[in-house]
Amino acid sequence: MNDAVVSGLAPVASCHTSVMAECDLCEAARLSEWFHEDELCWIAECEVCSVPMVVWRVHDPNPPDSVKQRLHALLRAVVSEHFVDEIYIDDNMRNIPDHYHAHARGRGKWGMQPLERRLSDEPNC
Ligand SMILES: [Zn+2]
Ligand SMILES: [Zn+2]
Repeated sequence: MNDAVVSGLAPVASCHTSVMAECDLCEAARLSEWFHEDELCWIAECEVCSVPMVVWRVHDPNPPDSVKQRLHALLRAVVSEHFVDEIYIDDNMRNIPDHYHAHARGRGKWGMQPLERRLSDEPNC
């Protein structure tokens, strides 16, 4: 009877999304290391891609340019503090298209290769 294909709801193979009904980014579960947080955003390691990503605290895909610049600047600062790689900012939001976030991916690295940690990057106790 009900054999209609609900194509709009088919899950896309992706990072981040195992729960489709909720927004993982709003949930902000601390599943991985957090590098930074403030009232504007948080920066954590993407548990799927193993690279740092910045997440705006607002559920909206289009922050104003001033916000976007600040998010990118914070992400670059975090990466240069903790990692040796040159990065580029990838804000193509394939998996969660309605909540702004951006990954820091290594330049010249393929796919989802993790960034290289600074040797001096030891946790402060
Ligand atoms: Zn959200
Ligand atoms: Zn990711």
